[in-house]
Amino acid sequence: MALLQISEPGQSPDPHSHTPSRKLAAGIDLGTTHSLVAHVADGKPVLTAGEDGAPLLPSAVQYCADGTLTVGHQAQQNAISDPANTITSVKRLMGKSMADVDHSVHVTYQLITAESGMPLIRTCSGDVTPVEVSAEILKTLKRRSEAAQGGELQGVVITVPAYFDDAQRQATKDAARLAGLNVLRLLNEPTAAAVAYGLEKGSEGIHAIYDLGGGTFDISILRFSRGIFEVIATAGDTALGGDDFDRLIVDWISTQAGLAIATPSAALTAQLLSKARAAKEALSNQDAVTITIDLSNEKSDSTSWQGTLQRQTFDALIAPLIQRTLRACRRTLRDAAITTADVLEVVMVGGSTRVPRVRQMVGEFFAKQPMVDINPDQVVAIGAAIQADTLVGNKPDAEILLLDVTPLSLGLETMGGLVERLIPRNSTIPASRAQEFTTFKDGQTAMAIHVVQGERDLVDDCRSLARFELHNIPPMVAGAAKIRVTFQVDADGLLHVSAQEQTTGAYSAIDVKPSYGLAEAEIETMLRDSITYAEEDMESRRLKERQVDAQRLIEAIEAALDSDGDALLAPNERVVIESAIAALKQAISGDSHHAIKIATDTLEHDSADFAARRMDASIKKAMAGHTIDEFSNDSAAR
Ligand code: ADP
Ligand code: MG
Repeated sequence: MALLQISEPGQSPDPHSHTPSRKLAAGIDLGTTHSLVAHVADGKPVLTAGEDGAPLLPSAVQYCADGTLTVGHQAQQNAISDPANTITSVKRLMGKSMADVDHSVHVTYQLITAESGMPLIRTCSGDVTPVEVSAEILKTLKRRSEAAQGGELQGVVITVPAYFDDAQRQATKDAARLAGLNVLRLLNEPTAAAVAYGLEKGSEGIHAIYDLGGGTFDISILRFSRGIFEVIATAGDTALGGDDFDRLIVDWISTQAGLAIATPSAALTAQLLSKARAAKEALSNQDAVTITIDLSNEKSDSTSWQGTLQRQTFDALIAPLIQRTLRACRRTLRDAAITTADVLEVVMVGGSTRVPRVRQMVGEFFAKQPMVDINPDQVVAIGAAIQADTLVGNKPDAEILLLDVTPLSLGLETMGGLVERLIPRNSTIPASRAQEFTTFKDGQTAMAIHVVQGERDLVDDCRSLARFELHNIPPMVAGAAKIRVTFQVDADGLLHVSAQEQTTGAYSAIDVKPSYGLAEAEIETMLRDSITYAEEDMESRRLKERQVDAQRLIEAIEAALDSDGDALLAPNERVVIESAIAALKQAISGDSHHAIKIATDTLEHDSADFAARRMDASIKKAMAGHTIDEFSNDSAAR
């Protein structure tokens, strides 16, 4: 693996390093705790450092009362003294409504709910949206990269977690637009890591990307074949990462030091967390670490505490958390219908994969040495830079297609509140599928299309994404109209749904940009529920289907009674049919599919004679040489 060079900001670019025709591009890893920007110079990826000489930019923005703001290290340091105005981990809020925000993750700033239901952050210089905060981080990275490259960026690739839904991707694009960036493409973080390692230059096969960052864990399974990367499955945990390792060390210190403080002061908490983190990071390179805690400002018997944390002890503390990540790996492999033996390479991403015990357990799980040559917190930005360089047009013959995957199934509501899935979960994107639907009622001229996401059979158990209507359907008998509904998920994971009536071409479409995002935890819950409730769902599906069929039968017979009942039925015969209809209506309103079946059979039986007579009558009429016009009354009633 070639060493990566880090360029200094403001350093005047080498005039020979790029020809005038070369377009400037950059790759951005917009992370929860850290962000990075990189570009390709002389065919090699280069990370751009900040004023402090380090490429990692803490994803922190501090808003000051005088209207100014600071971004990065300075803001992160001020987070301790000015927690209310220093925004960290804003990535967790992107594209989410207040209802969807994971409130178990503690934030130091005040979140309020905007009229739209979206979160706003209250700062001393006014309320700001998560998109605006993100835009400030992006602006800083843009300035850095432009100073280092000596010109304006023509395009960037920004990475996002593979599980990011439409709203989260859209919010990321909005932030980029606000920062004045042209987004060539959003790229999934695992795919970027694979590109950084040049896995596309190797043999075809399956790779696992294990990403353990500060607050999140992601596992993605990529398949590389015929020059194409495909994310075939992805899962993870949005509340599991290196921060949890820190908290376990804090608990350990508290126990060792006998700090039985129910509500420790903010200063002590901050001190414990930062000492814990430093100890953890030190243990990646040494076997033991000495921790000193200053207690002089606390109501405590002693003024300080000192202890030694052995790597072995730390390893034992975090083992259950690593086990949790491995359980997610096992699930994802199952989703992808593969075993660890099928995995060619395991790529380590995220600062927490520096922990030796993590590397070891992941290596044992996959039974192979994970790839760790590229700095795990830079690997995503490097892949993004390589991809940006290609997409901006500097490598016209490069032909890597990077395909991603839908985290949940996409479908629409059909009669009876049932879901018809068009694009199953874990489908590779871009994806497109069309299916024909029809009208339920005679003369129906409009159709409501309700787009849903989820694995359950009933619409009520899925997540509603969008609704729209198709109008100007020519009036026809129920079931005659042909309406083609097309679902298209583009390369960025955004969904476009269209509906078209096939004879007149009447058309309606919608771009789904739901304002409410889905947390990874919710995705998991939805998947788990789909298994837990599989049997129950089958029951409800059967009930709904029976209800829909029965309703359709009732409407057909009622229409027939209207048109031919007087002519073809004796009053007592009609009463029998009408009471069978009433009985079936009664059964439909109940919840026994068995009762509906019996009442449906009864109605079919009781109306069979009537149906036969109608058939005879129409045949007789036709045989007698009548013109079609004479039936017009008949057909108008349908
Ligand atoms: P994110 O993608 O979530 O922004 P990163 O990939 O930058 O996060 O990882 C940040 C996490 O990595 C933090 O919890 C940090 O403490 C941890 N980390 C960084 N360096 C080390 C190290 N040397 N040993 C152990 N953990 C580390
Ligand atoms: Mg990351």
